[in-house]
Amino acid sequence: MQKVLVTGGAGYIGSHACKALKAAGFEPVTFDNLRTGWREAVKFGTLEEGDLLDRARLDEVFAKHKPVAVMHFAALSQVGESVQEPGLYWRNNTGGSQNLIEAMIAADCKRIVFSSTCATYGDQDNVVLDEETPQFPINAYGKSKRAIEEMLEDFGVSDGIEAVIFRYFNVAGADPEAEVGEFHRPETHLIPLILDAIDGKRAALTVFGEDYDTPDGTCIRDYVHVMDLVDAHVLGLRRLLSGDGGRIFNLGTGKGFSVREVMDVAERVTGTPVPHDVGARRAGDCTKLVSGSERAVTELGWRPERSTLEQMVEDAWRWHKTGHYDS
Ligand code: UDP
Repeated sequence: MQKVLVTGGAGYIGSHACKALKAAGFEPVTFDNLRTGWREAVKFGTLEEGDLLDRARLDEVFAKHKPVAVMHFAALSQVGESVQEPGLYWRNNTGGSQNLIEAMIAADCKRIVFSSTCATYGDQDNVVLDEETPQFPINAYGKSKRAIEEMLEDFGVSDGIEAVIFRYFNVAGADPEAEVGEFHRPETHLIPLILDAIDGKRAALTVFGEDYDTPDGTCIRDYVHVMDLVDAHVLGLRRLLSGDGGRIFNLGTGKGFSVREVMDVAERVTGTPVPHDVGARRAGDCTKLVSGSERAVTELGWRPERSTLEQMVEDAWRWHKTGHYDS
């Protein structure tokens, strides 16, 4: 069976990717430092503990498993934190990715599916964000990811690295079988925080600003179901393995929902109003991020099937009630 090295495979998206890889006939090997990931989330394939900043450990794992490709999820991903502590983001995300790419080249494993982000576009009101839109990231998280995209391009020229780059919009939902799900400590993402507020795990949700230039004053995001997202990764991997080369794809649905609209859907799905208050804007937040691209659909044959807001909240709610990790 062909092995795929999954950095960050113990995290939210990486653990779902391992499930999708296994279902598609690949053998996922998780590489994770377990700082924000969970040992119990590695349910599909093996775990190799290690840090991307440890080049010797990376070399060891490449030599042991001889993967045909890499899926690179491991990263710090909190916009607010990246504004407070940019050094963490430059070192771990950008420096860690450089180590990974150089280890790949040394091991002659030159195909990579990379998790990038719509945060690389920055705050561009009323612009349709497609893959050709110029990037003006406004926080260290987005800047670190844009730098990795550029690094992949440079190593493509020098060493033949081939990268399928996915720029995610807002990933939500969980495995409908609730074997894996979203579980961050601390949690910062909107939908799990809403669900925590609904079942009393936290006092109330704070809406970060109601004075944005949007119809209800709250920020607008494009939410995509994690299962649909990882399906796209398998398609991207197959594209690389079949020799079609690297490419950049946005992964979103093209529909935006405000924070208020997400709260309304959560109320409908759970039958409980969301306890909340309204606070100040969060540093680094963009007003509106909505994907305008059909490229993944037309070129990869991607068919997002679960990415309605109702389905995402329903799947997240099922996981929220039944699943969690302790270690
Ligand atoms: N948000 C909020 N309260 C929270 C967490 C998030 O109002 O406690 C808002 C946030 O300002 C953004 C949206 O919800 O507009 C999605 O935020 P999240 O952190 O889930 O994802 P991001 O867009 O930062 O990747």
